[in-house]
Amino acid sequence: MLAAWRAQPLQGRLRITVIEPVEFGAGETYYSSQPDFLRLNTSASQVTAFPDDTVTSSLAGPRGPSLYEWYRTPHNGMAADAYPSRRDTGRYLSAVFKKMVGSAPPDVVVECLRTTAVGMHRVNENEWSIQLRDGQELLCNAVVLAVGGAGAAHADSALLAKEFGISRSFAEEKVIARPYPLEQSTPRLKPREVVGILGLGLTALDIIRACTVGRGGKFLRDGAELRYVPSGDEPQMVAWSRTGLPLMARGANQKPVDQKGDASFLTEDAIDQMRHKNRRVCGSPKLDFVRDLLPLLIREMAKAHDSAVASHSHKPKFYWHRLVWPIDRTALRGADAFKSFFVDYVRRDLADAHQGNVSNPVKSACDVIHDLRDKLRYAVEFGGLRPESHLFFDTAFTPLHNRLAVGPPPEAIEELLALVEAGIVDISCGPAPRVKLDSCSGQLRIRPYAFPGAGRELSVVVNARIAPTNVAATGCPLVRNLVAAGHIVPFTNTLNGTTYRPGGIAVTEDYRAVDSQNRAHANLFALGAITEGCTWYSQVLARPYVNSRSMRDASCVAESLWDYFAGRTNVALTSAHANSRSTGGKNPSHEPGSETTEPIAASA
Ligand SMILES: Cc1cc2nc3c(=O)[nH]c(=O)nc-3n(C[C@H](O)[C@H](O)[C@H](O)COP(=O)(O)OP(=O)(O)OC[C@H]3O[C@@H](n4cnc5c(N)ncnc54)[C@H](O)[C@@H]3O)c2cc1C
Repeated sequence: MLAAWRAQPLQGRLRITVIEPVEFGAGETYYSSQPDFLRLNTSASQVTAFPDDTVTSSLAGPRGPSLYEWYRTPHNGMAADAYPSRRDTGRYLSAVFKKMVGSAPPDVVVECLRTTAVGMHRVNENEWSIQLRDGQELLCNAVVLAVGGAGAAHADSALLAKEFGISRSFAEEKVIARPYPLEQSTPRLKPREVVGILGLGLTALDIIRACTVGRGGKFLRDGAELRYVPSGDEPQMVAWSRTGLPLMARGANQKPVDQKGDASFLTEDAIDQMRHKNRRVCGSPKLDFVRDLLPLLIREMAKAHDSAVASHSHKPKFYWHRLVWPIDRTALRGADAFKSFFVDYVRRDLADAHQGNVSNPVKSACDVIHDLRDKLRYAVEFGGLRPESHLFFDTAFTPLHNRLAVGPPPEAIEELLALVEAGIVDISCGPAPRVKLDSCSGQLRIRPYAFPGAGRELSVVVNARIAPTNVAATGCPLVRNLVAAGHIVPFTNTLNGTTYRPGGIAVTEDYRAVDSQNRAHANLFALGAITEGCTWYSQVLARPYVNSRSMRDASCVAESLWDYFAGRTNVALTSAHANSRSTGGKNPSHEPGSETTEPIAASA
C-alpha cells in the first residue's frame, strides 16, 4: 500500500490500521520472544521481506536486505545456507515493519492496534465495521484479511477423542490438541513419562527439540556421528506418522539464490493445451491430477535425476513409486525390523542430502517439485482440478509433497536419528499405529498396526499435525462470524453434481472475497492460508529473486485497493463519518490524522 501510494497518491490522507495481537511484523509464528531453538525451515538467503526486480508488479516496492543480508555480520558467522531461528526471523520481520511504518509518507498514517478482531459487518456499500476484542469498533472503507492459520479448524480435543474412541473429558486430560505456543503446551510432557507424538513432521521436530535441547540436553559430534547427551528431564517420546517415516531432509543447496529450475514438460502451455483438450472431449477444462499433471511432474523429476546421475559412476534409475512408498516388506516384520529399516533409511537420506540438490539424483529430483510449485499452482488453483481429483491432490499429493520437497534441514534429521539411537524417541510402532483406550488400565495405549507387536501406554498424546484450513469449523470468531453472515463462503469445487469443499474461502484471482450470493466484494480482500483450497500453498515466506508468490499477492491486493479507491470519489466523504467513530487505538505508531477526508484501509 505504501508503494501504491508513492506511485499514485490519493486525494486526502490514507490511514492504514494494522490489527495484530502478538507482535507487529513477526506475528504468531515468528514472535521474537520464542525460544531460540525453534528453527526456520527455510535458509536465511531464501527469505526476504522486500520485493525485487523479478516480482511481476506495476508497483515499485521498497528495496531492502534479505534475512541473510540483514543478519550477517563479520562476527556471527551466519552462512547464506544456514537455517536461522524463528526468533531471529521475527526480529528481522519486526525491524522491517517498524522501518516501513516509520518511513511512511506524511499523508499516510499507519496505526497499529495490538488486539484481535472478533467480528465484522457491513455498514453500507463503502464501509465495514470491525469489532475488536476490547469491545471497540473500527470503521473502514476496505479490509484485507491476512489472518494466517486462523481459519484452520480449531483442532480441539473433541476431534481427537473421536479418533481415539475416548470420552471428551478424558481427551481434555490426555490430549494436547494444539501444541503452539510450545512454551505453554510442552510443560505437560513430564520427565521420564511415556508420551505420544502424533505426526513426524516439522511440528513434531519442534516438540522433540523443546523436550530435549529445551531441557538442557546436548548434541555432541563424535567424528561423523551426532550423539545425544540427555539432561534427564526428557520424556520418552513415541512418535509416529502415516508412513512411520520423517520428512526427507532438504538437500544442501547448490543452486544460486536467484535460480529456480524451469519446466521442460510441466509448462503453462502444456497445461493450457490439456485444458483445451479436456473441454473438447469432456465438456470441462478441469484437469485430472493423476492423468494430466502427475506424469509431467514425474518426467521433470526423472530428467533432474538423470542429469545428476550423469556425473556418477553408478547409474541408479529413477523410480517414482520408491519415493511414494519407500518401505520394504522386510521392514514390516516387526518392531525391531522397522527400527533398523528406519535407521538405514534416514542415514541414506542424510548422505543424499549432504551431496546436495544438484549433485544427488534423489535430492535433485525432489527439488524439482519445490521449484515447479508455481506451475502446479497455475494448474490446480481456482478450481483447476476436477472435484474428486482435487480431493486426491489435497489428501494424497500435498502430504507427499511435504515429505519429499519441504522437509527440514539435514541437522534436524540427524538430531532425530541421534535421539532414536539414544532411546529418547521411539519410532518402532511403524506406519499408522492405533491409539485406543486400554480397558484394563484405563489409559491410552498405542499398538503397531502394520505388524504384530506389543503396545505402550501413553500418559499424554500431543497432536503434531497442523490443522488444515477449515473455515466452516474454525474456532476464530472473526472468520466464523464472517461465514455465518455470508460475507465470505467456503470455496466449492463442483462438476457434474460432484462437489468438493477443500476448507478455505472463495476469492477471485485478485483476492477479492466472494460472498454467499457468489458476488465478489469490491473492498474485502483475503490472502494466505484462509484461501487454501481456492489457492494452493500460499502461506510461505517470500523468497528473493524468484518472482515470489507472496510478493505478487501483496502487490495484487494493493493494486486492487487502488482501483477501488480510484473508482469511488465518495470514499473520502463517507470516511468523514467513519472517522468520528473510529477507536483511535491504544498503541498507535502514528496518531490517526484529525482530517476527515481520508480513505481508510484495515488489515487484520
Ligand atoms: C510453526 C510454524 C512454522 C513455520 N515455518 C515456516 C518456515 O520455516 N518457512 C516458511 O516459508 N513458512 C513457514 N510457516 C508457514 C507460515 O504460515 C508462513 O511463513 C507465514 O507466517 C505466513 O504469513 P501470514 O502473514 O499469511 O500468516 P501469519 O504469519 O500466521 O500471520 C497472521 C497473523 O494474523 C494474526 N491474527 C489472526 N487472527 C486475527 C484476528 N482475528 N485479529 C487480528 N489478528 C489476527 C495472528 O496473530 C498472526 O500474527 C510456518 C508456520 C508455522 C505455523
